[in-house]
Amino acid sequence: MYKRVLLKISGEALAAGRGFGIDAVFIHKVAEEIADAHALGCQIGIVVGGGNFFRGVAQQAIDMDRVAADHMGMLSTVINAIALQDAIEKRGIMCRVMSAIEMHQVAEPYIRRRAMRHLEKGRIVIFAAGTGNPFFSTDTAASLRAMEIKADILLKATSVDGIYSADPKKDPDATRFEQVTYNDIMRLGLGVMDTTAVSLCKDNNMPMMVFSMREQGNIVRVISGEKLGSLVTA
Ligand code: UDP
Repeated sequence: MYKRVLLKISGEALAAGRGFGIDAVFIHKVAEEIADAHALGCQIGIVVGGGNFFRGVAQQAIDMDRVAADHMGMLSTVINAIALQDAIEKRGIMCRVMSAIEMHQVAEPYIRRRAMRHLEKGRIVIFAAGTGNPFFSTDTAASLRAMEIKADILLKATSVDGIYSADPKKDPDATRFEQVTYNDIMRLGLGVMDTTAVSLCKDNNMPMMVFSMREQGNIVRVISGEKLGSLVTA
């Protein structure tokens, strides 16, 4: 079993098929699974995305400056983080939101040593506002925080059960990889995460498991060390 993990949950996943916003039933299911994994004794850091509210790249559609749009994107991750914190705390587990953009009334500022202390005390930490910088993604934030907190592994929970040679929703011949390297991802142009996040993990030897969180229980199974989905290594 992993001792400390960084779990990345995309914003889109929290919309659970609705396309926008937060699905109340689904977020409680996710919180339940996180609580179960926490009960096993695993220290859990979480990075949530914000794509269910706003993505910076959508700025062209509304004629916005990219930096302003990315600020909106990062703020949308804070909304998700607060919702997830609330759902986790309803299960009697202490959970802190640490934001990369300071907003004292809402969340703690991200201070790495304090984050480590929370984890050691068994508190779940949700890292909000991505890296705090425009032009980055929450996948990059997840890679960065995984390294900073010295996680054993980065767990990327998605709607697909691993990494495929092509988009399995469009190509019936797409095959799933059991294990790949970060070099394979770059060489084959596999759309797992952006290249900044990939190179950060590769250069710092951070393994990653890409798995589906659609099936109930998968988060616990992965944290227990079960090999679900696709494993990515340096
Ligand atoms: N974002 C950013 N810097 C970061 C992380 C995120 O500017 O370090 C912005 C960016 O606009 C992005 C949005 O926040 O589109 C939401 O994050 P992301 O698209 O990664 O969310 P997900 O796809 O995981 O839901």
